[in-house]
Amino acid sequence: MKNGHTRRAVVAGGAGFLGSHLCEALLADGVQVWCVDNLQTGQRRTVRRMEQNPDFTFVEADVIETGFLARLPRRIDMVFNLACAASPVQYQADPEHTLLTSVVGTRNLLRLAEQRGARFLLTSTSEVYGDPEVHPQTESYRGNVSCTGPRACYDEGKRAAESLALDFHRADRAEVRIARIFNTYGPRMRADDGRVVSNLITQALDGSDITVYGDGSQTRSFCYVDDMIDGLVRLMRYEGAQPGPINIGNPVEMTVTELVEQVLALTGSRSPVVHLALPEDDPRRRRPDIGRARELLGWAPRTTLAEGLRATVQWFTELQAEPEPRAAGKGTDHLVV
Ligand code: UDP
Repeated sequence: MKNGHTRRAVVAGGAGFLGSHLCEALLADGVQVWCVDNLQTGQRRTVRRMEQNPDFTFVEADVIETGFLARLPRRIDMVFNLACAASPVQYQADPEHTLLTSVVGTRNLLRLAEQRGARFLLTSTSEVYGDPEVHPQTESYRGNVSCTGPRACYDEGKRAAESLALDFHRADRAEVRIARIFNTYGPRMRADDGRVVSNLITQALDGSDITVYGDGSQTRSFCYVDDMIDGLVRLMRYEGAQPGPINIGNPVEMTVTELVEQVLALTGSRSPVVHLALPEDDPRRRRPDIGRARELLGWAPRTTLAEGLRATVQWFTELQAEPEPRAAGKGTDHLVV
């Protein structure tokens, strides 16, 4: 409750992997949720499950357009912006749309927050650090992004979105919070999103080739979805003066080869490992410095990789029994590396 009212949240991208977990966490906390999603990568069946709850409303819309704004209530307390295709395969499938989602979509949602006096949380990304020359990455590091490469539509879009959000904050037009999300995995990932965790687990379960891009020495740091959602909710609730950006991610870093070994051990799979070309601009190392999140939010991840992978393997095992429809026009077919 806030001032005697039930709290209300808009979650843009609420039918997606992280968005759907966030909607559920908010509903469980007694918040009324308006989920806005164009179902480009979000899933209709996730939404249907939530629509059983009277506190949940689904608005099928693209945040690049403004029509959805009229379908939202007059009083809103929180606007979470998670709208954007986020896996390299998916965000590169329609790069113009990806860039505009981050820039125009964020402006539309910031204006919504401004009009309703709501707090606004932007989910930015570790991709703003590009192929980092500073390791681990602190929020003060300005990054090493290629503004002309195939990842630029996502990286530059998110960088522009951060800049826009902080301009609104400085001008007192909206109270802003910015999270920089590092690689996240867990149940409800799509099997066809092309990410390393979903690819490796589905390949291991199928007994098909395990695809390692490059020599497998590149590193990532993987955060379990429940920990990520906890971080985002804490950031939205944070009452201090720092709008962010704040890194939210798991600082346990590993090579892709080490991840392959864990997945093979966990699934008992005998899939052979094949090496494919490393995609252009693929960051060599990535690991968050989460000192700021620890200090300001009292947050740190709690789920070990073994626990998280076990739950994710379980998810993909169940998914194989009941496969999802492929995202429109998306998939891994065009992933020539
Ligand atoms: N990767 C891989 N095999 C795959 C998919 C991805 O080796 O089947 C590598 C990819 O090149 C990158 C890392 O795994 O170095 C993480 O890729 P992902 O697409 O999950 O996320 P990114 O951090 O690159 O956005």
